[in-house]
Amino acid sequence: MKFDELGLSQKVLTAVEASGYTTPTPIQAEAIPPALQGRDILGIAQTGTGKTAAFTLPMLCRLEQGRARARMPRTLILEPTRELAAQVEEAFIKYGANHKLNVALLIGGVSFGDQEAKIMRGADVLIATPGRLLDFFDRGKLLLTGIEILVIDEADRMLDMGFIPDIERVCKLVPFTRQTLFFSATMPPEITRLTEAFLHNPVRVEVARAATTAALIRQAMVASHGHAEKRDTLRNLIRSAENFKNAIIFCNRKRDVAILHRSLEKHGFSVGALHGDMDQMARMASLDAFKNGSVALLVCSDVAARGLDIPDVSHVFNFDVPTHSEDYVHRIGRTGRAGRSGVAITLVTPEDKKYVEQIESLIGKEVDWEGPGLSELPPPSESSSGHERRGGERGARRGVERGGRGRSSAGSAAPAREAAPKARAPRASESGRPDAAVAESPRAARTPVYAERRDRRPRAQEDDGPPVIGMGDHVPSFMLRPVVFKPAKVGEE
Ligand code: AMP
Repeated sequence: MKFDELGLSQKVLTAVEASGYTTPTPIQAEAIPPALQGRDILGIAQTGTGKTAAFTLPMLCRLEQGRARARMPRTLILEPTRELAAQVEEAFIKYGANHKLNVALLIGGVSFGDQEAKIMRGADVLIATPGRLLDFFDRGKLLLTGIEILVIDEADRMLDMGFIPDIERVCKLVPFTRQTLFFSATMPPEITRLTEAFLHNPVRVEVARAATTAALIRQAMVASHGHAEKRDTLRNLIRSAENFKNAIIFCNRKRDVAILHRSLEKHGFSVGALHGDMDQMARMASLDAFKNGSVALLVCSDVAARGLDIPDVSHVFNFDVPTHSEDYVHRIGRTGRAGRSGVAITLVTPEDKKYVEQIESLIGKEVDWEGPGLSELPPPSESSSGHERRGGERGARRGVERGGRGRSSAGSAAPAREAAPKARAPRASESGRPDAAVAESPRAARTPVYAERRDRRPRAQEDDGPPVIGMGDHVPSFMLRPVVFKPAKVGEE
């Protein structure tokens, strides 16, 4: 099957051709024709299947007729995270190159004013995270009565992040006659209930189940003890990895993302971080630096990394074994994309045994151990269980390790990496504060309503650890300055 057999308009076909795609992916081939006829779609597919184009291309065709009015967007796409929303915006820019469309992005962590101006101009496409969308709506800045097409993407992720009540509310605010395109990688009961309530006789399209791991990914487990030893093991794995280009490293908790990021940086690696408590600018900077190759390692949490399309990642390291086995499939699916091969290595401590068993049962095979398995693991080593060892004692990997404090490891590292812009990751102490993302934006700090309203929602795997009391370990320097009292004059109080 070719793209020109799907019924797409000439403008869209020209843009698809310019992107270099000739053959539609299975979800595109099955979803685009009914979507063009105005049918509701229930797409069961994960990222990497081409699902973004499966809804973007028919939407572009539909948008060729008609015009947007001020404050009344014509189409609405809901995404669970800011990064996914930004990725969909990129898709509209790419595939909509021959259309004159106004695309507006409503996501937390960026200025309200610019977003409002775009909505006022009349948006053909509004891409939003649920919290920010409803904030706009509740302030009377937005009308949803003109929505012709509603897209709900990554619905199971929305569920994990506690967004389902918001989604239900949006579904009731948009006209009953709109077309709905609904995508989810899995179909837990809450999602099925949602589709039964809000989709009208949908065409069901299902591609590659979430439990399948790509055959092109070489998977391995490496046994190790607690965090300090795992950091040491990880550094050695990175240094000795074959055909290494870049790597995404997953931690289960935001706090550990920050700690590992700082540790790798201290050891002279070229590394960025991505997790839900970083402000939007820092998240985008980290992602861009990784995508354009100016940093070679990206330490992430699941929620921040879910669904991101980062082609050509050579390695995935699970610094922690995921406690939800489906996350394992999503994590390792960051490598081995688009027909390339990839390597996924998971660090396993004796406490993780039960999670490994769950993963192996989900993927239907045993993963090989590299080095000794858990039963042959020697007791924790003295040197790595306490302080971090300084510098890498093995050979440096060119391009991955920078010069700097980890001198011994970085002696031969490529200096070009040093000049690259480094995305700022929060300090470990910051990552423990649920409101860090809000407090970092001056505007948000003044008006808490601007924050993505996460405080009401259960956290997925991004456990913050114990709450930080007062200022935590950060005391502003002005509070440490001695105070000089002037002696009171006679007669003064
Ligand atoms: P998605 O599942 O939407 O995140 O897409 C995954 C990747 O596949 C993206 O990098 C797309 O640009 C790419 N892609 C989308 N459609 C096609 C296609 N028909 N042929 C090849 N690659 C595609």
